[in-house]
Amino acid sequence: MVDFSFTEEQELFRKALREWCEKNLPLEKIREFDRKGEIPHEVIEQMADLGLLVMTAPQEHGGTGADWVTACIAGEELGYADVSIAIPVFWLVESSWGFVVDRYCTEEVRQAVIHPAIKGEAFIGIGSTESGGGSDVAAFKSTAHRDGNDWVLNGEKMYISGTEEAKKLGGGYFVIARTSPAPPDAPHRGMTGFYLPMNAPGVEINKRFDDMGRMAISTGGFMMKNVRIPDAYRIGEVDKGFYLTMEGFDNARILIAAVCVGAARRALDIGMEYIKERKAFGRPIGKFEGIQFELADDWAQLEALRSLTYRTAWMQDKRYKEGKFSPLEVSRMIAACKLIAPHLAFDIYKHAMIWLGAYGYTKECPLEMGLRGIMSYCVGAEGATNIQRIVIARELLGKEYIPYK
Ligand SMILES: Cc1cc2nc3c(=O)[nH]c(=O)nc-3n(C[C@H](O)[C@H](O)[C@H](O)COP(=O)(O)OP(=O)(O)OC[C@H]3O[C@@H](n4cnc5c(N)ncnc54)[C@H](O)[C@@H]3O)c2cc1C
Repeated sequence: MVDFSFTEEQELFRKALREWCEKNLPLEKIREFDRKGEIPHEVIEQMADLGLLVMTAPQEHGGTGADWVTACIAGEELGYADVSIAIPVFWLVESSWGFVVDRYCTEEVRQAVIHPAIKGEAFIGIGSTESGGGSDVAAFKSTAHRDGNDWVLNGEKMYISGTEEAKKLGGGYFVIARTSPAPPDAPHRGMTGFYLPMNAPGVEINKRFDDMGRMAISTGGFMMKNVRIPDAYRIGEVDKGFYLTMEGFDNARILIAAVCVGAARRALDIGMEYIKERKAFGRPIGKFEGIQFELADDWAQLEALRSLTYRTAWMQDKRYKEGKFSPLEVSRMIAACKLIAPHLAFDIYKHAMIWLGAYGYTKECPLEMGLRGIMSYCVGAEGATNIQRIVIARELLGKEYIPYK
């Protein structure tokens, strides 16, 4: 039997979150955050009070134990409210990578970062990408070697979301580093995941980028120079970090799709309100088929993406709770969501901006914030578009068709 309804609990959660967003995150405030380049701490505190931070962590670890469908509801509502995408980024990085860290970490790490992050007193992010590239994870140059009961990390991570927030709030990153030589036939093996606290001696934030969008959350880089962390900060098994990284990407990508759905819905709402009012040639421009047909196409495609996103989140829940779908089956679906969502949302922003004419191009109008924010997911945050295509094609054709092998 197919049942597309949300549970009563999920509907209530959506309603409560929507009300909070309407009251606390009106577009004028989002513009202010975007201008100032900061998410006010009180917003983070309120999100913690609402149980939104690392919401996917199980209740016994201090989270709300939200399933992935519920997390996508949160993503959609936050994306609808903060079209600049900064608050959704802060939220989704924690909900996806915090989930992975919590799932595989020791109690020591849980106490050090997961519990404080849930309370809004720390940040937990992903430090995967390096200056040499982000797509080819197996080629990363960062290393970790064992020294007694410690690991010593060296390397550089670049284009990392939330470096300033991690410095200010405390907390740190899931990082991946090479721990064994790469087997020539399987270079992704021999890498290990770690929790890297940003206040560990030898960690130095050496870059803050002047991004084009999502201005209220920072993107930066950091060096790891002989950073010594205890073995208790290792996440998962030695040499198996690649798989945890892929799990984290999957979790982030499904939430990104939900955020894009919400942000694109907002663009359509703003656009529809305008085209019903704005007159040209003696009638509202929404009467012209040239505009109506684009609106209808955008709405239809967005509904298709929304269904795909929630169906995939449902599969993700089945995977985690019942082992019903294999991780690779779910990965393919998630890749499809991440492949489509940012580009569709970007197109919808572009269309809505054009409907709004010259006004749409100004900073008096919120749409340009959305266009800039969504673009970060088109260029590659949490995985480039072509990488999603590679994941899908690998599952359709078989591993022997992986193009880079
Ligand atoms: C705003 C922003 C925030 C980010 N935040 C984080 C973060 O918090 N943590 C983090 O670890 N990273 C973060 N990233 C980095 C992101 O993960 C990388 O941008 C992404 O993985 C791609 O890596 P790259 O930019 O080095 O591009 P590259 O890997 O150098 O790829 C460049 C281009 O080549 C294409 N390409 C690569 N390989 C192939 C192939 N085999 N076939 C066809 N095309 C290919 C890619 O699709 C891409 O278009 C962020 C990026 C942005 C833009």
